[in-house]
Amino acid sequence: MREFLPSATLSVLSLARKKQQQGERVYNFAAGDPVLKNHPSITKRAVEETRKGICPYPPVQGFEELRRLAIHWINQTCRTNYALENVIVTAGGKFALFEALFCLLDPEDEVIVPCPYWVSYPDLVAMAGGRAKIAASMPEQGWKLTPQQIFQAKTDKSRVLLFNNACNPTGILYTREEVAEILDAAAMLDLWVVSDEVYSGMAFEQEFVSCGSFSKNQDRVIVVQSLSKNFAMTGWRVGFTLAAAGLIRRMAAFQGQSLTGVPCASQWAAMGALEDADAVQSYVKKAMVQRRDCFVQTFNRLFSKPMASPPSALYAFLSLEHLGIQHKIGTKEFCEKLIEKEQLAIVPGEAFGVPGYVRLAYSDEENEIRAGLEALSQAVKRWDE
Ligand code: PLP
Repeated sequence: MREFLPSATLSVLSLARKKQQQGERVYNFAAGDPVLKNHPSITKRAVEETRKGICPYPPVQGFEELRRLAIHWINQTCRTNYALENVIVTAGGKFALFEALFCLLDPEDEVIVPCPYWVSYPDLVAMAGGRAKIAASMPEQGWKLTPQQIFQAKTDKSRVLLFNNACNPTGILYTREEVAEILDAAAMLDLWVVSDEVYSGMAFEQEFVSCGSFSKNQDRVIVVQSLSKNFAMTGWRVGFTLAAAGLIRRMAAFQGQSLTGVPCASQWAAMGALEDADAVQSYVKKAMVQRRDCFVQTFNRLFSKPMASPPSALYAFLSLEHLGIQHKIGTKEFCEKLIEKEQLAIVPGEAFGVPGYVRLAYSDEENEIRAGLEALSQAVKRWDE
């Protein structure tokens, strides 16, 4: 039997939910799951279509109407130039990443994975038959990957760069110049670029730059998108991938033989979201900016070392020292103790390739954020006693 590790963030989340079901008060900073009612445009379309009572097998690549809406939306918001042949609808961004990697990799091919990385990347690469080659970025460089680090990580077996902008867990955003440099380095090294852009709508002040918005080397760039975060639709499980038509055809063949397609009801909900994309996105973004600001203000009031405001995504990535922990303790053990004893769910940096740091999601409601940070500051004070 093949062994796979469960997702570290989902494991912390399921522990938190179990405690909640047992009636315990849990402060949940574990999951980047916007706690927000679906915008009415989403449910309206899903309910109207479902009421018709006709739900056949979905088209493998997604309903044409949804694919048209998806490319219209990305072309408008990300300055890209995709056509219908460049898009496939998938079951969320995670499956899109797996599907793209599965179609690109030969056994043992290497995928350069910038670190800190989203928790699932190394496992997705392994499940697709490849090997993750970690390229560590440094806090002193604001956690940004540089072209030099790509050159250093490259070996004869490197085939793909798995790039993430806006970034989970660090919340960093790359500028247009930085993205151009990364793409140039990848092109020089003959690498495909799989660009995970599921937080594109969560760039709070600065411009978001898509790898799909450059004219050079587009045959080698795959953009992964999702409605999970940008439209606060995590449970509907809809994402899409943009790439050269040849690769999209391969992904469609793979999808037809594995998933069949994305459930119709979810696609209808996604159509509702994308038909009213400006309104839905600004509804979500407004809530998330407020939560980010609430998190930062509360943190800076309660903890002695202030934190900077993360420019994007839904996370604060902080060292234990930043939290004021003097005591020598590993972050994994720290997080285990926090959930066990203090009912605080946060994810250790080990899950993102960086021990010594923890990730706190600020996607819950503001009163929860305030109460959770109060509880964390009390827990930290007790820690060193
Ligand atoms: N990529 C990143 C960086 C993420 O943080 C997530 C979810 O947390 C995903 C992809 C997958 O999102 P989904 O499968 O919900 O679209």
